[in-house]
Amino acid sequence: MMDEKVRQRIRELGYSVIREMSERAADLDGVVSLGIGEPDFHTPEEVTRQAMEDALKGRTHYVPARGDAELVQALAERVSVQTGTRVGPDRIVITPGGMGGLSAGLLTLLEPGDEVIVPEPFFPSYRAHVAMPGGTLVPLPTRYEDGFVPDPRALEQTITPRTKCLLLNSPNNPTGMVIPGRIMDRMAEIAVRNDLVVISDEVYDQLVFGAPFESISTRPGMAERTLVVNSCSKTFAMTGWRVGYCYGPQWLMDHVVKVVNYSTTCVSSVGQRAALAAIQGDQTPFRRMRDAFESRVELVWNRIRKMKGLRAHRPSGAFYVFVDVRELSLDSTAYATSLLDEERVVVIPGVAFGQSGEGFVRIACTLEESLLTQGMDRLERFSGRFGRRPA
Ligand code: PLP
Repeated sequence: MMDEKVRQRIRELGYSVIREMSERAADLDGVVSLGIGEPDFHTPEEVTRQAMEDALKGRTHYVPARGDAELVQALAERVSVQTGTRVGPDRIVITPGGMGGLSAGLLTLLEPGDEVIVPEPFFPSYRAHVAMPGGTLVPLPTRYEDGFVPDPRALEQTITPRTKCLLLNSPNNPTGMVIPGRIMDRMAEIAVRNDLVVISDEVYDQLVFGAPFESISTRPGMAERTLVVNSCSKTFAMTGWRVGYCYGPQWLMDHVVKVVNYSTTCVSSVGQRAALAAIQGDQTPFRRMRDAFESRVELVWNRIRKMKGLRAHRPSGAFYVFVDVRELSLDSTAYATSLLDEERVVVIPGVAFGQSGEGFVRIACTLEESLLTQGMDRLERFSGRFGRRPA
């Protein structure tokens, strides 16, 4: 068998359940797809036009590995305002989406056998980002009953001499949870006390409903040990352009830039011009998008909480509703596949996000309201057909 030549760690990686569900749905007609976490909005026309103009003017060459100088400067100013601390251009690296920041960060940090603690449920790609450099992902289970907020005491008990990193994601995919400030404070203290590096995945930072977004990187002692991963994908409806960025302390970024350099040379020059246009241009379309996500999440949550046998927390951020289906007599995979077969609705089984996600399904509110309503009607009909799980 030739595939034995493939590294065991790579062979062991599964394909993305999220993609698999979407591929399963591709052959069916009339599907309402609440699967993929991708904004349905196109990149605003003005952003695309500006990028194309720049391309026509010759911005089609390699750019420095760190990124297009104007984009890096614009991001340094934006991040400094957002965090209230000065983040200079030399501490920023442009990456191929948030995915690029996660993989470059972990490839830079992990020695084989190093442990990375990740509150679970978590974004499934983390498994691969940790596994590829030889690390071990150690889940930190969270519970519906606690609003999926990680417990600092449990975190402390999970730390071993091999723990190098804590990987946080707030606002969270798939739960929509935002880590409250007081919990963030305690996690920061634990990170400092145990000399951990924190990777803070903040790709949904602009999609918070209610309280303003807070970053763990602003806590005392954290600037020198936090790698913040962010992206233009969700904030600016730019998933296909593949532009993200990360920032952190100088000792780390000087090496992250080498990893990005040797793996990609640089991120697409035209994509970076689009990101610059998005940051410098009119912010109205992005504010509208954010508002649309908030009202869609509200619509879905309001429907779910009135359905018999289902419940969900009202999301504080991102654009997902994580629905508890434990009262029904189906596990999350059976729920998602039967829902697709019988009612043509795609949702993602919660177990794809780790064992603590079993008993839940994720709904991505990335369709306009009339389609979401249709999806909810079908979900209600489907769920109504299943009895409660025997006590
Ligand atoms: N992090 C989280 C939590 C995500 O949900 C995603 C995408 O869904 C990403 C990172 C990566 O996004 P991108 O690479 O498009 O920036």
